[in-house]
Amino acid sequence: MLPSVTFLDLETTGATPLRDRITEIALVRFDNGVETLRWQTLVNPQQPIPPFIQSLTGINDAMVADAPLFAEVADKLLAFLEGSVLAAHNVRFDHGFLKSEFKRLNITLRQQVLCTVKLSRLLYPQHYSHGIDAIVARHQITGLARHRAMGDVEAILIMLNDARRDLGAEVVQAAALKLMAAPTLPPHIDASLVGELPEAPGVYLFYGENDLPLYIGKSVNVRARVLSHFSSDHASSKEMRMTQEMKRFEWIPAAGEFSALLLESRLVKERMPIYNRQLRRERQLCSWQLVAGAQPIVRLVNEDEIDPSQMAHLFGTFRSKRQAVETLRKIADLSHLCAKTLGLETGRDGPCFAYQLKRCKGVCCGQESAEMHALRVQQALMAHKLKAWPYRG
Ligand SMILES: [Zn+2]
Repeated sequence: MLPSVTFLDLETTGATPLRDRITEIALVRFDNGVETLRWQTLVNPQQPIPPFIQSLTGINDAMVADAPLFAEVADKLLAFLEGSVLAAHNVRFDHGFLKSEFKRLNITLRQQVLCTVKLSRLLYPQHYSHGIDAIVARHQITGLARHRAMGDVEAILIMLNDARRDLGAEVVQAAALKLMAAPTLPPHIDASLVGELPEAPGVYLFYGENDLPLYIGKSVNVRARVLSHFSSDHASSKEMRMTQEMKRFEWIPAAGEFSALLLESRLVKERMPIYNRQLRRERQLCSWQLVAGAQPIVRLVNEDEIDPSQMAHLFGTFRSKRQAVETLRKIADLSHLCAKTLGLETGRDGPCFAYQLKRCKGVCCGQESAEMHALRVQQALMAHKLKAWPYRG
């Protein structure tokens, strides 16, 4: 869970995203618990910094005069955030500013977010204040550049390290997941009931207006499965519509996976929930197919599109497109493949982002032949080759 998180802090010329601009960005990214990236830059806001803000942050007009514009770091920033949860202290602020800045460039930022103020409040409910100053004082943090972006990011990281040590990593993890699940709850759904969902086998039922059955599902972990319906992250438009129509839900515990399956199939027949067929189709597994000579050379295929004769060209089974893309991205990174040529990176002509970091061998700019790259893609994917598609028929 939480495989990738980017802790970020911004300094700005003021508090209003529509009018004010970013003057500094700092971020530290973790993938699977390991710090993989640390980056900071001043940004030229193209407007004067008010004196009050200058004295608060120590960032003045002269310092940002030669700094890059937001537009000049936007691609890099997007790549850094890609596939991670954006965590910030009062994330609505930072997220709002980023969305506004990207919108000026006609880019829609879609980022799952986590607020570390709320996280601190969940972890340390005995304290009243959860601002950075209070955290710095409580955790006896010294030597950081307060009110500069990286200083604030580091304060949060120290607080979370302390929390892991004092309360246990699982507690921090569970609190983060709880927060990430919370804001995406459908409008009519009682959050306290969500808290009671068991991490155990069972069947769950979603109801709409007039107790119309919308969806019935089963899982060995009812809690995780119900929350997966609510997470806006990989929800399809149908799934989104269903959760908007939802008025209430309930669950029935089952002794195990098999009895959950029997109960589910009986209930689906009896009550005929309207979304079952549609969502089943979308919640099927998918796999990467290598297509020789095509561009991009891999494509994602769904369970029901699979041609058994193509089995030799299929790699991996994934529960969602997102999971498939993330895995391919990791493989590409480890094997120095080109994310752009694999269709994982969009953007202007010219070399991919990884090439600039010497992580791609340069098929995207003529430094490597397409044939050699395709061969290396195939080799890298071999470990994920399907022996037999497990869900025939
Ligand atoms: Zn490349």
